[in-house]
Amino acid sequence: MQIGPNLIYKCPKCGEFIQNGSLISGNTLHAQIYSDAKQIAGMLPEYPNLTKCQKCNEIFWLSDLKKVDAYFPVFLFKDASKNKSNPEWANADYADFLDINDLHRALEMFLDKETVIRRMIWWKFNDRVRKGKDLFIDETDEHFWQQNCNRLLELFDKNDTEQQVMIAELYRNLGQFDNCLEIINGLPDDFNWLKDKFREECSKQNKLVFRLE
Ligand SMILES: [Zn+2]
Repeated sequence: MQIGPNLIYKCPKCGEFIQNGSLISGNTLHAQIYSDAKQIAGMLPEYPNLTKCQKCNEIFWLSDLKKVDAYFPVFLFKDASKNKSNPEWANADYADFLDINDLHRALEMFLDKETVIRRMIWWKFNDRVRKGKDLFIDETDEHFWQQNCNRLLELFDKNDTEQQVMIAELYRNLGQFDNCLEIINGLPDDFNWLKDKFREECSKQNKLVFRLE
């Protein structure tokens, strides 16, 4: 894995500087793959693209902004004397992934990115299970989760095999095990490795996200 420089951006609303890490190369060796298709790889760290300014709360995509600068933080820079970057950068807030409330806000701002943002929301809920916590905080939370799952079922492309797996997973999450199995059973042979795992979880009537690999 090769870590790249930290990239500096400027909040489009208040002008505050924000930094985000970058990666030159990585790999998915020993990655954890979950039933909702989320992959967590220690050798492929992820940096947020959709984020918010911690000073003014504005939400934006870093990829929509112009990079102000790039620098190597001291701990990455072998010869600190060659580090000619602006000393201000070290104090800039690091970009963070949005929480569910902020993702809800983003949904209203970026209608053209609905599928991507709703998938982030789905994964963010499942992250609670991945961390050993309850899926829902309260009823309002559960209602929003359910509405999000149902909308994703409409948005995912039924002709795309990878998205079919996510459709099957959504059905399982919603407790519609027959619908889940119908899709899983119809997947091509390349997906045989996950079929038995989905069948087993359906037979146990497990609705929660589980680790595939
Ligand atoms: Zn700001």
